[in-house]
Amino acid sequence: MVLAPTHEEAVTLLVKQHLQSYRDLPMLVYQIQTKFRDEVRPRGGLIRVREFDMKDGYSFHADAESLDQTYQRMVQAYHNIFERCGIPAMQIEADSGAIGGKDSHEFIMPSQIGEDTFIHCPNCGYAANAERAVFTRPPALSEALLPVEDVHTPGQKTIQDLVDFLHVTPEQTLKAVFYMAEGAMVFVTIRGDLDVNDIKLKRALGCNDLRLATDEEVAAAGLVAGSASAVGLKGIKSVADESILVGTNFVAGANKPDYHLLNVNTPRDFTPGLVADIALAEGGHACLKCGTAFEAARGIEVGHVFKLGTFFSVALEATFQDPEGQQQPAIMGCYGIGVGRLLAATVEQNHDEKGMTLPVSIAPFHVYLAGLNMETAEVAEAADSIYQQLQDAGVEVFYDDRTESAGVKFNDADLLGFPVRVVVSPRNLKEGKAEIKLRIEADASMVSLEEAANHVVALLIA
Ligand SMILES: [Zn+2]
Repeated sequence: MVLAPTHEEAVTLLVKQHLQSYRDLPMLVYQIQTKFRDEVRPRGGLIRVREFDMKDGYSFHADAESLDQTYQRMVQAYHNIFERCGIPAMQIEADSGAIGGKDSHEFIMPSQIGEDTFIHCPNCGYAANAERAVFTRPPALSEALLPVEDVHTPGQKTIQDLVDFLHVTPEQTLKAVFYMAEGAMVFVTIRGDLDVNDIKLKRALGCNDLRLATDEEVAAAGLVAGSASAVGLKGIKSVADESILVGTNFVAGANKPDYHLLNVNTPRDFTPGLVADIALAEGGHACLKCGTAFEAARGIEVGHVFKLGTFFSVALEATFQDPEGQQQPAIMGCYGIGVGRLLAATVEQNHDEKGMTLPVSIAPFHVYLAGLNMETAEVAEAADSIYQQLQDAGVEVFYDDRTESAGVKFNDADLLGFPVRVVVSPRNLKEGKAEIKLRIEADASMVSLEEAANHVVALLIA
């Protein structure tokens, strides 16, 4: 009676029945099975749907080193799969999300229709999704600390208001953002030129339930929206982004309506309980590794691998006996590919105005074979012969013996994306030849009937 969004629990309980000793490990199981997810915004055909087929694999290990080995092998296998699907998938660092593991990577196919934003460095190759990406904070004013001053700022509430009114840059301001984490108010301070990344904040706080506070909650906490700062803050958890450490003499709220403070500095004027990387990375930000400006791009997530650690095995007591006779929780990894989405991404990447151009490795049929004027005995005989030879060579052939016109047949062949098209016609037969054409090329070549099958096989292997 359970519609599963994912199967870590079911698989962990299953493996538990078969796991006794470290000698049983590593263990790797997979399935291709239906998943159900209550997607808020299903879209893009098979890209995001509420019911879909997923290839999900799970590995169990006695130690972290064994997990590393399997993880790397799985990553390589995923690269191979995407290559065979004709997909230029990029491996990017990903957030491990609610499941709470350690390493996690997504495989992303860059695409304008993709709904995932990722960041990549054109110089060193660093790539990560926006939830995860780390970056160097842009520089800001660095000067001797000046005394704090009140400044009257009637009606000025947003960072843009302050920038215009006080003639400062956004980097010179501190923005206050209010969240509710597990039901308790959190006061977040971040430099005015940056935005808070909810996923990073959640991870920094170690909480599962996080949302923006409502206006009523902000007022009830005694905070002055539009003029708030962490200066003098008491009784509310105070968190800040690392960006507050880059720069001096910030403009911040004065905690009374229509006033701000000039020359606010940390730790002199306020000390957050936690300073962490909670800012959203965007295109143009500097790579932490090499300093080059990031590029932001959109993509379709076609695969995801996680190191789960012992989250499920501890909770569900999937343990094994180690060489010393002690019970240990198995260390887990999980590996997923959405099969329908992979197909959609494959077609997105491999098509032209006539239809699909499927790679040989995944095309349902390798070859489209048509005889024109099949009622002519010679044509039928020659086409039958090529069909038989290809079948004998293990080639999957779609044999179109309909009496449709050549135009109709060729359009269908292009639409369905057969990698190779072979045509036997009365005209070609007069020269003892068949016409052979690759779907992705414009021109056909004429090959003798005797050589036709071998020629096709050679094309498929190439
Ligand atoms: Zn870089």
